[in-house]
Amino acid sequence: MKCPYCGSEECINKSALNIYLKAVETFLKKYINIKFKYPAVGEVGICKKTGGRIYLCPYCKVPFKAPFLNKGEGHFNCPNCNKTLNVPASNKLVC
Ligand SMILES: [Zn+2]
Ligand SMILES: [Zn+2]
Repeated sequence: MKCPYCGSEECINKSALNIYLKAVETFLKKYINIKFKYPAVGEVGICKKTGGRIYLCPYCKVPFKAPFLNKGEGHFNCPNCNKTLNVPASNKLVC
């Protein structure tokens, strides 16, 4: 899996990635039939060269750059597969 910023494999945090994939698998099974309930993207590392956060889509499992988010907007679309995703919880806490 390559960093979406610099293309290096080094930037992805493998343990964070594994934890996220397990958690999201449970989520997808549980909420598959519930509308308006979206899985949060995973934070799977920070680029060592650019300092950018690396996010992972739970559907297509492609890492991508932190999206530009409008204030008050709780979700966005994956740049790869266009599914609706929630922002990570850590971002919501920032005021
Ligand atoms: Zn990188
Ligand atoms: Zn996707």
